[in-house]
Amino acid sequence: MFEKTHAMIQRGQEVVMNTYGRLPMAIVKGKGSIVWDIEGKQYLDFVTGLAVSSLGHSHPAVVEAIQKQAEEIVHTSNLYWIPNQIALAEKLVEHSFADKIFFCNSGAEANEAAIKLARKYAKEHYSEDKYEILTLVNSFHGRTLATLTATGQTKYQEGYAPLPEGFTYVPINDLAQLEEKMSPKVAAVMLEPIQGEGGVFPLEVEFLAKARKLCDDYGALLIFDEVQVGLGRTGKLFAYEWSNVAPDIMTLAKALGGGVPIGAMLTKEEVASTFKPGDHASTFGGNPLATAVGCAVMDVITEEGFLEDVLKRAQYFKLKLQKLADKYQTGTEIRGQGFILGWPLDRSGAEIVEGAREKGLLINFVGGKALRFLPPLNVSYQEIDGAITILDQVFAECW
Ligand SMILES: *Cc1c(COP(=O)(O)O)cnc(C)c1O
Repeated sequence: MFEKTHAMIQRGQEVVMNTYGRLPMAIVKGKGSIVWDIEGKQYLDFVTGLAVSSLGHSHPAVVEAIQKQAEEIVHTSNLYWIPNQIALAEKLVEHSFADKIFFCNSGAEANEAAIKLARKYAKEHYSEDKYEILTLVNSFHGRTLATLTATGQTKYQEGYAPLPEGFTYVPINDLAQLEEKMSPKVAAVMLEPIQGEGGVFPLEVEFLAKARKLCDDYGALLIFDEVQVGLGRTGKLFAYEWSNVAPDIMTLAKALGGGVPIGAMLTKEEVASTFKPGDHASTFGGNPLATAVGCAVMDVITEEGFLEDVLKRAQYFKLKLQKLADKYQTGTEIRGQGFILGWPLDRSGAEIVEGAREKGLLINFVGGKALRFLPPLNVSYQEIDGAITILDQVFAECW
């Protein structure tokens, strides 16, 4: 390993808690789809900080928004109105099913807010024992106690008992089980339209429609966790637009702040009005800096033609990936939509991830199931070709 990296890791291991299985590198600079580590080695970034830097690194609109706002004011708290927060809420309302927005700082916080809101709404409109939250097996909703309980994977829950009560799980795309688990006690059904951390598993439109219908029948709210797949990642502004199914609550985070932490919960007026002053809050939530950047990000993604272009390049990438999957006979179909794509492998992808990294391409392997590709939404055809060339070489060497 290189000297600077080695020294840095030794310092890090002394003082930073050991909660991540980190790769032995540090990224210190980025421009567009390219990043550089502390040794000066260059990489194509098809991870984008976990679907966060969707406009690529150091996008001029993001840089300008941060610089300008930093010179005005960074933080004021929600004791006062925040004009940038209002402006970002207006943009989200204009482009979605929602009427009202609550701002926080992360995906887990947005989901935590959604769970709290759904329970309070159910109690107010129905009964005290309507509190169950139905989620999917293999889902991912965050790491707070409530959201890791919502997460239908026991590996995230071990050691943290007792977990909050009232969470039930249904296998993905299983219509019969969904119907069976649905009851008057269910306050909300919470889903990722495409499971991201679980291994890139898209939900079938039929399943989403069934969830919508059952929620309507039982007076439950439908929550879409679009923390990863929202904001253009699938080639539509929101993943739910691929179906004819709109949720009652939607959560966003990752890409919204262009790398500045922000989360948002979006909902209809009828549901939003359940929360009264004091019912939920966040010190940092929707602060002037985060929401200034959020506005800049929204403006770029909603520019005319932006998403059409994303779809074209994403289609091109998916076809090329499928060709490689066929060439190396991994026997698999590339999953996903737009620029969240998964290449399922029947054994660990660690070697592929490492091989790609050595050759200058960053990707990751999720859920122990699939290589995941999350390039910047504005990645070029040339950069896609570059990534494909590297993958071809890596598979030729180690598959
Ligand atoms: C990343 C992610 C979260 C958690 O977001 P944090 O900002 O890490 O709290 C929740 N849901 C989904 C679908 C995610 O991909």
